[in-house]
Amino acid sequence: MKSIHILCSALLCMALTVPSVEAEASNPGSYSVFIGHRFFRPFAQELSIYSEAAGFTGRTQSIASSGRASKAPERFWENASKGDEIQAILDSGDIEPASTTHDVVVVGAGSAGLYAAKTLNEYGYDVLIIEATDRIGGRVKSASLGDIRVDLGAEEHYRATGDNPVWPAVRDAYGESIYVSPYLGITAFSMDGSINTCWRTSSALHPCRDDSDVATYDGFSNWYWVPNQHLDANSSLAEDVADKYGIDVSHRAYHLYDNGFAGGSYATNLDQLGARSLALQSNQWDLSNSTLTLGDKDLGYADILETLWWDDVVANSDLLLSSPVVSIDTSGDDVVVTDLNGATHVARQVIVTVSIGVLQSEMIDFIPDLPEATVAAYKGIGMDMGMKVPMRFSSAWWETEGEAMAWLVTEGLAGACWVPSDYKVASSSHILMCYPMGDNGTALNDIAVAAGGAAAGDAAIIDAILADLDRTFPQALGQASVNYVEGIVQNWGADPYTLGVYSYPKIGTYTTASDSRRRDLQYPVADGRVFFAGEGTHTTHPSTVPGALHEGERAARAIHAINTATPNPPTCGQGCFSFDIDADENLEADALTDGLLVIRHLFGFLGESLISGAISNDATRQDAAEITRYLNDAESELDIDGDGEADALTDGLLLIRYLFGFSGDALISGAVSENAERASAEQIEAYIRQRIPVI
Ligand SMILES: Cc1cc2nc3c(=O)[nH]c(=O)nc-3n(C[C@H](O)[C@H](O)[C@H](O)COP(=O)(O)OP(=O)(O)OC[C@H]3O[C@@H](n4cnc5c(N)ncnc54)[C@H](O)[C@@H]3O)c2cc1C
Repeated sequence: MKSIHILCSALLCMALTVPSVEAEASNPGSYSVFIGHRFFRPFAQELSIYSEAAGFTGRTQSIASSGRASKAPERFWENASKGDEIQAILDSGDIEPASTTHDVVVVGAGSAGLYAAKTLNEYGYDVLIIEATDRIGGRVKSASLGDIRVDLGAEEHYRATGDNPVWPAVRDAYGESIYVSPYLGITAFSMDGSINTCWRTSSALHPCRDDSDVATYDGFSNWYWVPNQHLDANSSLAEDVADKYGIDVSHRAYHLYDNGFAGGSYATNLDQLGARSLALQSNQWDLSNSTLTLGDKDLGYADILETLWWDDVVANSDLLLSSPVVSIDTSGDDVVVTDLNGATHVARQVIVTVSIGVLQSEMIDFIPDLPEATVAAYKGIGMDMGMKVPMRFSSAWWETEGEAMAWLVTEGLAGACWVPSDYKVASSSHILMCYPMGDNGTALNDIAVAAGGAAAGDAAIIDAILADLDRTFPQALGQASVNYVEGIVQNWGADPYTLGVYSYPKIGTYTTASDSRRRDLQYPVADGRVFFAGEGTHTTHPSTVPGALHEGERAARAIHAINTATPNPPTCGQGCFSFDIDADENLEADALTDGLLVIRHLFGFLGESLISGAISNDATRQDAAEITRYLNDAESELDIDGDGEADALTDGLLLIRYLFGFSGDALISGAVSENAERASAEQIEAYIRQRIPVI
């Protein structure tokens, strides 16, 4: 039998039983483990005194704490000695995670979830992010292959159009020269079992301009996105292509439309795209159509997002990894989110950022049932199988025309491929990235399952792709297999917490120029307590990272709008600065009262010299001793630069400058300690902003 105590502050808490103690019948004992920042150690130590006073006699506890390191619990595991200490405690008994309480729970730590948490942090909300897998980033995932970072999910960056937040942030942090054009060289179309493979260059053995079927394909890109060319709302794009060009699945050029267009751009097949729906979506598209990639061979998309934002988001929120959410219950006053480990998490609101594929799988049980319109919305959006397969070769065997290859469309399972090592500056690797989507993704997944899955499955997938590539060029028959060195299979369709690649417009996803299933999914349910956000809910740039970021931000803003109208402001769960709370409790923090009090306190002033001229008339806290006590209690929060100490000439100065409206260099100049965990103006501003509630 387990006896559990729920003991929580900003610490990660666990409770486990000690059988010998349970023998004390009236008060079954418990063994609590506190893991957290060392600022909380004194509070954790004192819990024994309070629990005894409350009549708990058989209780013991251990504390594992650490200074400076971020309070994010997983940081403890990265520290070998702390990790061993905690592991030893955990090994000593059964563990049951205690429940948590936050303002908002965000389900999913992908782009939408993390940006939602970032926005909520800025408003001052206490946020718990719950992620099913053991990593953050979702469909933004980078890995190393050869001498470059390859992107296993999102790879292309959109330019600034459409209020894309990524572009300016990357440009400011890394300089615009980090961006390069992704597809360098000439395009090749594999045709007729390699006999008539053509290249888009006049010097090639078979120039594409001599192939009339390829010329037909060229006109397609000016036609597919025009709504008045696709009037039948129930027609697939495959049907419209058959009507317009006379090309169906039996035609030699069908794979150009299927692998090249439907697979390459929408991660599905031609017969799954709704012709009118796609045209309506394309007409609403408001991101740039032009994309670039990161030319630095040591940086992938995930690496830069971590540096730009995610490290801070994780430091400012609570994060639970490896905890798939299984139910969301809104039948009571609170939202109760339960994960697969049995832990329950109570919040006022929840933002669900899982993929359309995960929603369609219905792995999350909503109690009560979701409204029919919401269910129809996620069922009405497409999401298919697919994978990214980067492979390293000993030579660029595909350059049969003596030039770099920009883009290859194959007839078989590889689908479409490009060469990321060509755009990574100074790379000496030869890496081909293949993109088998829709039916190709399903067929390869079946091959992997038949081979036994796991590593054997991945090897079988790569063998099947190599077999397709081996017959791509008449001048390089068999060369893919001969030159192959190593590869990675990122099978998004089989990933249980993505269940597809990205969303696409199927028949009925878009019904008019302004209505879509995506928009329907944006409506909050359960009286403004459950929100959906992710790439799949964006109407004007879905299926992208910027779309996911914008949707996370939209849901967070919507929550705040509802709460401020109610009013139901954030609790400032991480601690608020407002040391001189007005009688009317409007929670204002001012430079000449709160800021001055803090800096004087940190200089060691007491009594009249602390408060003289620094207390507003309507302050509820007027007494110097009371203010000293209050600021002593708040000391952990006052370490603004995170160097482990609260100092007048760093933290005090930072706060008062901020309250005077300083920002950027003027805020931090000469006021950040050498050991600061938060050293940039952006980090300092975010930290303080988070502690001043926005009403
Ligand atoms: C192969 C591929 C190529 C792409 N190329 C580009 C590109 O070049 N440019 C571009 O801009 N975009 C691209 N995208 C799209 C882009 O990656 C996505 O639009 C974006 O990352 C989606 O973010 P999201 O937060 O909506 O979803 P996700 O990133 O999928 O995040 C959802 C999170 O929820 C978690 N989760 C799922 N179920 C549960 C559960 N029950 N409990 C808790 N957590 C759960 C998941 O593990 C995941 O971490 C590509 C995507 C893929 C897969």
